[in-house]
Amino acid sequence: MRKSYLIKTSVVFITLLITACSSAPVVPLYEYPPDWKETDVRQKTIADYSKYISGKKLFLDPGHGGEDRRNTNKKGDVVEADVNLRVAMNLKKYLEQAGATVFISREIDKTVDLGYRSELSNKSGADLFISIHHNAPGKAEDISTNYTSVYYHAKETDFEHEPCNRDIARYIERDLAYVMGNPGGLGSFDGTYSDYNIYPGQGFSVLRKANIPAVLVEGAFHTSHFEELRLNNEEFNQIQAWGIFRGIGKYFRAGKPEINFLVDSLKVENNFLKFSWMVQDTAGINPKSVVVYFNKEEKEFSFNKLTGIVSAKIDLPAAGDYPVRIIAANKNGNHSFPFNKKITVTDSKTVNISD
Ligand SMILES: [Zn+2]
Repeated sequence: MRKSYLIKTSVVFITLLITACSSAPVVPLYEYPPDWKETDVRQKTIADYSKYISGKKLFLDPGHGGEDRRNTNKKGDVVEADVNLRVAMNLKKYLEQAGATVFISREIDKTVDLGYRSELSNKSGADLFISIHHNAPGKAEDISTNYTSVYYHAKETDFEHEPCNRDIARYIERDLAYVMGNPGGLGSFDGTYSDYNIYPGQGFSVLRKANIPAVLVEGAFHTSHFEELRLNNEEFNQIQAWGIFRGIGKYFRAGKPEINFLVDSLKVENNFLKFSWMVQDTAGINPKSVVVYFNKEEKEFSFNKLTGIVSAKIDLPAAGDYPVRIIAANKNGNHSFPFNKKITVTDSKTVNISD
């Protein structure tokens, strides 16, 4: 009697337990972006972004591979090199569908020297260099740290910092983090970081050696006990690529100022060196954003908002070569691509400009 009561109670308890477990809400590992889920909506979104992406040239760099496959999760079944490659190949597909020309440092699992990656991108004639990686924490036992981040070269206070790199990083960071449902790293306000945070004064070699605007994406932590459940999923990698694709599309949609040096304006007058250039953007130029460096020193200038002509007047320096650098941003906040020229002063009358 007592035994059968116990059995009955146990059966009821187990049944309740099973019912409770089966009715618990199942949290999906990821959501489908509404503009990606249905093929026709996805194709329409790609067509919409093609207005801004078509004709652009992008260099993609899936990190690691070949002999370099050591970055994995604890179990060793999520290999960073493979995740990077899958995301990059899917991104290549979306960009090409939108009319871009895409170069890539590797399309299979193979060794590509770090220096060679930057060299390839510099020779490619691409507009942007995008290196794709996944992250790992400082401590091997840490399986919970996880966020999405995008790196740019140098700090805002360094002369060689190009603000356009950070613009691109911000666009990619926001849309990638959004589709993954991840936070950005809290070490910065928006999840983008200077590579000097990792290697002070040097940064990442692939970014430092790239001559074109460049960012390095750290999609998530492949060491995370949550990410290891989804980073090997091809469909999820497609969604990651979609986030980066959308970020790139929105970046180009916001535009950037074009700078044209007015060669005929370069002259010596009353012991002053004078030169002008034009900054143009359909979104309009933010007059406060314009900066001109002559011989790495910030100089005064005048800016005509109506014509977009910026003019500088500098005390005539001694004969020699002087680097000139100009930066401007449009009203959407996007900065011009790197603009660096060399002004050569031959004597008190002759000056010329070259790349
Ligand atoms: Zn990596």
